[in-house]
Amino acid sequence: SRHLPAVPVNRLGGPTGRVPLGLKRKGLRVVVTGGAGFVGSHLVDRLLARGDSVIVVDNLFTGRKENLAHHAGHPRLEMIRHDVVQPILLEVDQIYHLACPASPVHYKHNPVKTIKTNVVGTLNMLGLAKRVGARFLLTSTSEVYGDPLQHPQVETYWGNVNPIGVRSCYDEGKRTAETLTMDYHRGANLEVRIARIFNTYGPRMCIDDGRVVSNFVAQALRKEPLTVYGDGKQTRSFQYVSDLVEGLMKLMEGEHVGPFNLGNPGEFTMLELAKVVQDTIDPNARIEFRPNTADDPHKRKPDISRAKELLGWEPKVSLRDGLPLMVQDFRNRIFSDQKTN
Ligand code: NAD
Ligand code: UDP
Ligand code: UDP
Repeated sequence: SRHLPAVPVNRLGGPTGRVPLGLKRKGLRVVVTGGAGFVGSHLVDRLLARGDSVIVVDNLFTGRKENLAHHAGHPRLEMIRHDVVQPILLEVDQIYHLACPASPVHYKHNPVKTIKTNVVGTLNMLGLAKRVGARFLLTSTSEVYGDPLQHPQVETYWGNVNPIGVRSCYDEGKRTAETLTMDYHRGANLEVRIARIFNTYGPRMCIDDGRVVSNFVAQALRKEPLTVYGDGKQTRSFQYVSDLVEGLMKLMEGEHVGPFNLGNPGEFTMLELAKVVQDTIDPNARIEFRPNTADDPHKRKPDISRAKELLGWEPKVSLRDGLPLMVQDFRNRIFSDQKTN
């Protein structure tokens, strides 16, 4: 039988996402949408490890069952193959809403589907949270700042986003998802949390998802040239996945709605990133310049003062320390694929 902790109960008689300080939280029921994806699967690892029951809701568009294969048969994990654009009935205490393709190659593949996922999918998960009184966390993105005119980006900056460009399905979709989240918070008194995630890398990223870290690492391992788009002077800040997962959990458990920037403030040009990849994998890896994609933001770097102060969170893993952890995983997957093909 299930022992409910002595915490406030929701309309169904289950514990709410609100756990008073000092009470040991036990056995919450947590939904992770997008839990078979890169970030989601690492989050599921941590939630299971601390004793939660986890329901993964994922349509496996960019996610993979293998990302959760190490939990096969786990009594507290359930995987539902479901598209969040369709309504779903579940009884849960917390919802981490991650379902959405994250790589530009994937989200541009079917832009209308991307915006439906962000708008209708988020609406459905908010409706679910409202019905059962669950706490809801949205994984938004640094892309809400667009091609930023303020550097580094603080949460109070409203952004510089093209509403009709090829990235808009994602940027504007996430901006609308933030709006919906705040409107359910204000209108339905829902407990919500908003994270604005900056570029994140690590094991289990899709190998050919077109993102810069996965491209460079796979290229260096395959002895192909590293493809630098444009002049390579544009910047990004790269966060290791364990730091992000820690930040998401602190945000969910904390008292603050946000939005919070979650990212690593270390800023690199794409040429500098290529150098780190060369140093880590193959000093002889060649660089090949390619034309850049449309609407590519020139620079991006989080100001994380708010998360530091209010969540007591900051990233711990530098790019030079995190990259080798991802390289090992990519090496295993790339070379075992070759054996089976
Ligand atoms: P990912 O593509 O690996 O994971 C997304 C998951 O969502 C996949 O498992 C996919 O199958 C699932 N999904 C997509 N559309 C769905 C739908 N309609 N219904 C159900 N499931 C669906 O990407 P990720 O890097 O793990 O990103 C997770 C979240 O974090 C996304 O919301 C993304 O926008 C956000 N984010 C990620 C980054 C990053 O650098 N990784 C940066 C900013 C924001
Ligand atoms: N929804 C859902 N699961 C639930 C409750 C709601 O998928 O458990 C969906 C519902 O189908 C609707 C959306 O969430 O499309 C918003 O629900 P809400 O109750 O806020 O609005 P309404 O149904 O009144 O439009
Ligand atoms: N990029 C690159 N080579 C690649 C893939 C991407 O130089 O093989 C650049 C891209 O133009 C952008 C940056 O790397 O300036 C980050 O791109 P990514 O798609 O990883 O994420 P974004 O931050 O644009 O969502």
